[in-house]
Amino acid sequence: MNQYWKIAVIGSGPAGFYAAGELLRQKSWEIKVDMFERLPTPFGLVRGGVAPDHQKIKSVQKIYTRIAENENYRFFGNVEFGRDIYRADLMEIYDAVIYSVGSPTDRKLGIGGENLSGSHSATEFVAWYNGHPDFCDYKFDLSARNAFVIGIGNVALDVARVLAKTPQELEKTDIADYALEALRTSQLEDIWLLGRRGPLQAAFSPAELREFLELAEADVIVEKNELELDAESQKILENNANNDTMKNIEILKKISEKEVSGKKRRVHIIFLTSPVEISGNQKVEKISMVRNQLVKMEDGSLVPQASAEINEAAAGLVFRSIGYYGKPLSDLPFDQKTGTIPNECGQVKDPEDGNILREREYVAGWIKRGPSGVIGTNKQDAVETVHRMLGTFLKGKMDAGKNCTNLDIVSLLENRKVEYVSFSDWKLLDAHETEAGQKKGRPRVKITSKADMLSVIRQKKQLKIQ
Ligand code: NAP
Repeated sequence: MNQYWKIAVIGSGPAGFYAAGELLRQKSWEIKVDMFERLPTPFGLVRGGVAPDHQKIKSVQKIYTRIAENENYRFFGNVEFGRDIYRADLMEIYDAVIYSVGSPTDRKLGIGGENLSGSHSATEFVAWYNGHPDFCDYKFDLSARNAFVIGIGNVALDVARVLAKTPQELEKTDIADYALEALRTSQLEDIWLLGRRGPLQAAFSPAELREFLELAEADVIVEKNELELDAESQKILENNANNDTMKNIEILKKISEKEVSGKKRRVHIIFLTSPVEISGNQKVEKISMVRNQLVKMEDGSLVPQASAEINEAAAGLVFRSIGYYGKPLSDLPFDQKTGTIPNECGQVKDPEDGNILREREYVAGWIKRGPSGVIGTNKQDAVETVHRMLGTFLKGKMDAGKNCTNLDIVSLLENRKVEYVSFSDWKLLDAHETEAGQKKGRPRVKITSKADMLSVIRQKKQLKIQ
């Protein structure tokens, strides 16, 4: 029997790292953590989701790197759950598993024309400009003059901002080279952000909204009448709006009062408007939208209700940015409605088995609670999961190794000829990217194909040996 607990963490985004950090911090438990990641690179959405012009947010990688330097931590990149390793393997080798795989896909609008060429999900565009290997071959028609972004969360603002920025603003970032080159040719003039509810219900944060006032070559426009509130929203504003909402309203007012200075591009924020159809001959040419009014529900929430007012506008690109969505994992339950793995405080429960709690399987992050919150939200989320797990071990009077074998994952991966990437391998790739970036005054130049990543790692390892 093992003297220590072996825990597998699937996914190396913020939730996975916070879970690993909390496990390794425990003084009264001997714990070893193996983290698996399907890409050769760690950090999940911090690398592949956070906008390239938000480098400060990305500095959280330093905290994750410190966690990874713990002697009881191992990273196995380029190892995919469901392709290279399976639940049965993990159950055999580890005392318990934490799935922190995020929400890699997106929600659909469910309107006509959504599948036309030129209609994309924000998740695709974000992954593309961030150099995610699965998305680097995507094409976006940047010869379009009008782009519509549906939804007004922070992802929608990221998409609109990247579309609105000049190459000079973007070339200081770690945006993927191919995306920078494509965006250099952009003919976009107008970017429209559509919120289905009013300014008070906007999901974006004030800091992100404020950035639109600082764009080099794009004006941000909010018409004054867009900020007129219905009676219920007005009541909320006067009595119990939260700090962020108050700040959003303040900034939106400032924007609406600002003179349009005639910059090359315009970003328009439109409220109380939903798309009803996207149309065109083979590709997106037009978008039809309906004006909404807000209706108060029994639970007090304000929901959009379509009016009879329909407008149409020319559109060359549409990005739906209405929330990420989880992907089912083989041999694990999945809730289609929420796109999450059913759980109780992070412990996986099986509704099909009568809500039985799985003793050795846990979830953290977006696959646990859905795609909400900022990076830091995942810390308390992961801490809850870890303590639920340790509490279950104690309650079940379990001993380390009671439920698993002494088999080491390395021999399994070697038998299966999986070319896994260790954390020190990643550091070689990281150094390669940052050195390439330094030469150009950028944080890094990303390698964007898996084959190239593995090839750089092999070459660097070879050099180290010589
Ligand atoms: P989000 O914050 O949940 O926003 C989704 C937006 O889509 C909302 O405006 C929502 O409107 C709208 N929406 C949903 N269904 C719709 C429909 N059928 N038709 C039209 N609009 C619809 O999601 P997100 O922007 O993807 O962001 C995910 C999480 O990551 C958030 O917590 C966000 O704050 C975080 N994030 C943070 C940053 C940052 O801190 N810089 C950057 C990116 C992402 P309703 O409100 O009416 O539902």
